[in-house]
Amino acid sequence: MSKAFNFGAGPAAIPSPVLKEVQNELLDWKGMGISVMEVSHRSSDFIEIAKKAEQDFRDLLSITDDYAVLFLHGGATLQTAMIPMNLAPEGGSADYVNSGHWAKRSINEAKKYTTVNIVGSSEEENFTYFPPQSSWNLTEDSSYIHITPNETIGGISLKQIDSSHLPLVADYSSGILSEPLDVNKFSLIYGGAQKNIGPAGLGFAIIKKSLLGSAQELTPTMLNYTSIHEGESMYNTPPTFAWYVAGKVFEWLKSIGGVEEMGKINNNKAKKIYSFIDESSFYENKMNKSDRSIMNIPFLLRKEDLNQKFLQESSEAGLLALKGHRSVGGMRASIYNAMPEEGVDALIDFMDSFEKKES
Ligand code: PMP
Repeated sequence: MSKAFNFGAGPAAIPSPVLKEVQNELLDWKGMGISVMEVSHRSSDFIEIAKKAEQDFRDLLSITDDYAVLFLHGGATLQTAMIPMNLAPEGGSADYVNSGHWAKRSINEAKKYTTVNIVGSSEEENFTYFPPQSSWNLTEDSSYIHITPNETIGGISLKQIDSSHLPLVADYSSGILSEPLDVNKFSLIYGGAQKNIGPAGLGFAIIKKSLLGSAQELTPTMLNYTSIHEGESMYNTPPTFAWYVAGKVFEWLKSIGGVEEMGKINNNKAKKIYSFIDESSFYENKMNKSDRSIMNIPFLLRKEDLNQKFLQESSEAGLLALKGHRSVGGMRASIYNAMPEEGVDALIDFMDSFEKKES
């Protein structure tokens, strides 16, 4: 089969050079005659690649020593429970910005462990814009403020983020490593790996060390950032294969020029698709132009009865997983780091011919 382009929102495309390297090493890792999947996480060989992955992640985002970098199980979702357990004292409260589906998921989970104040929301406008920081009505004695800077389903993002007097906690699942990011503005950046980092099954957290050590009494050991940090992300057996692949993705990103270069490429790819949609009377994107995500581009066909045909023909053309999330319908093109410009051009060519054929 010829190479297809994967527009899935996650698990998402992995860079082809990484997949090839993994394939080459799969049966015989480092000349050991066994696969990396079979090697002990406590062995010096594995620890070496685990440490290298952490260092490369730190280098890519210029993460300083006052932050711990953790690799965890449970994707982003488990951390939506860990965050209030670890950062909000019993009887305390936390501020949340409601920017869409994933923000809501965080809010609903946090409510089980703390009092949640919604300090900004675009729900009344169907999440077509990101509530700007200047509009957040922060609570004086809250423990932190939680944001979801890239809403993977809605396709909106927060472009301008300033430091805040409350610790800023951000779910960067679908935005991490897509462009430069000033980690120092945040107290905790977390997410699942399966978009810009590697295979599903791995989560990451970049947490200010000064926030460690004050988890609620009942916090399970595996959900306590402090025990994960003390165990160097190996309190129990970590998802070793996913961690190994993540390390290769970091190396690949460094080799192409890091997040500065990636950011230019990603902005250019997104601009091409949005310009095409905006010029067309056949497709539309309803999101506020200045808040549009560069990673996830939802779009609708004005003739909705053609949705199924569009999906079938695009898939036959090797343009996979363009179906929009069931909560919003239509289409969505996720164009993470591993999506080459060639894939974006192929999508635009397809959309153009489909429009000409069906209008
Ligand atoms: N937050 C965001 C912004 C996401 O895009 C996703 C997954 N699509 C999640 C949270 C949930 O991630 P996971 O499946 O890793 O728990």
